[in-house]
Amino acid sequence: MLVKLSSRRGKASGVQWVEGFVSFGKVRLNVIVYYIDGVLIDTGAATLLQDFKGFFEEVQAKKVVITHDHEDHTGGAAFLANTYGIPIYINESVVKNCTTKASYPFYRKIFWGKRAPFQAEEIGTTFTSDNATWQVIETPGHAADHLAFLNEQTGQLFSGDLYVHPKTKLILRDESIPIIMASIEKVLTYDFEEMFCCHAGFVADGKKAFREKLQYLADLQGKVLHLHEKGWGEKAISREVFPKKYPITLLSFGEWDAHHIIHTIIRDS
Ligand SMILES: [Zn+2]
Repeated sequence: MLVKLSSRRGKASGVQWVEGFVSFGKVRLNVIVYYIDGVLIDTGAATLLQDFKGFFEEVQAKKVVITHDHEDHTGGAAFLANTYGIPIYINESVVKNCTTKASYPFYRKIFWGKRAPFQAEEIGTTFTSDNATWQVIETPGHAADHLAFLNEQTGQLFSGDLYVHPKTKLILRDESIPIIMASIEKVLTYDFEEMFCCHAGFVADGKKAFREKLQYLADLQGKVLHLHEKGWGEKAISREVFPKKYPITLLSFGEWDAHHIIHTIIRDS
């Protein structure tokens, strides 16, 4: 098999997780599913389902909440709904979309497999777990339907794909840096400490991490807009600011590219 799969478990501060890895060629991607207090946060990818089933069986979640409708977060949803009969909650804007065959590029199917259709319900603005009430925070930018979840009892933030990396150097074509920045500013107005990111994992001081990321993006934005005002074109700015090319840019036919960072800063700032 061309794709290599593996997984590992972790836990911290009452949260358990399973992290899956998918490697193809030089590119290795990961994704994490969290469990706390009766609730699963996200469901992983279809390719990782065999690796994640033991975790799902062990935790016996009562409900599933999904941060956004990307195939590495929704790939296990149909299995969880069909096997355990538990409800799945997601942003209302994509409830209908989830019931259909998902459409995304072939290279993403190699990594993440085919996301099976599933029935989901609108999540609303809050939800409950066994012992806590949670805030649902709309945080678009990575995806239009993206949500972060805040456990009000513990002050833990489950940030989906809002954080991912402190120094973003690549984004998807559909992402937007200024919209991500506005979402980070929004979560920073909430009271939280620990952050659980679906790719970076557990971060003890989540606020500090988000502040640093926001500062990095603001500096980047300043630099890009300055060059743009001096008359530089987007391509020239890309070459200047991000000279390095990454294997995933080639593999994804440009869906992942530093250029989208430059383009969206100029378009959306
Ligand atoms: Zn995503």
